[in-house]
Formats: sequence, C-alpha cells, structure tokens
Amino acid sequence: MKCAICGGHLEEKATKLEVWVDGKLLVIEDVPARVCENCGEKYFSAKVSKQIDKLLESKIKAERKLEVPIFSFKALEAIG
Ligand SMILES: [Zn+2]
Repeated sequence: MKCAICGGHLEEKATKLEVWVDGKLLVIEDVPARVCENCGEKYFSAKVSKQIDKLLESKIKAERKLEVPIFSFKALEAIG
C-alpha cells in the first residue's frame, strides 16, 4: 500500500489525531495508523475509524487537557 497523495512509503505508527467535535478541538493519542514517510498523510483502517467513533461517543474522561493558543490572521493588520 502506498500514499494516495504522493505515492510515498507508508509506515505503521502510533499517531496523534486532532478532531473537531461541536466546535471543540479534541486530541486522541496512540492511534494506530499508516503514515506516509514523505508527506505525513495518515491512513486509518476501517476498524480504527470505528474505534475512534466509539471513543468520541463514549463518556470516557480525557486523560489531560491542553491549553491551545488561538491566533487570528486579522491581527496582522494591526502590525501592518
Ligand atoms: Zn504521501
């Protein structure tokens, strides 16, 4: 199996996945995926995709929380 975008080699890895749910950003760690060595595109198996859905629907408590700085591109206007 090769990367559908660039044709690069895919490597089996535990990845970090960012998902937006209802306007909130969630991060899931240790997600098994095939990652393109060239462009970094992630591919998840049907089984893993189902497990991700299950995790998101579950009421499992987050391991920890992360504070994320948010920037607006409009701030550039103030700098000139
Ligand atoms: Zn690629």
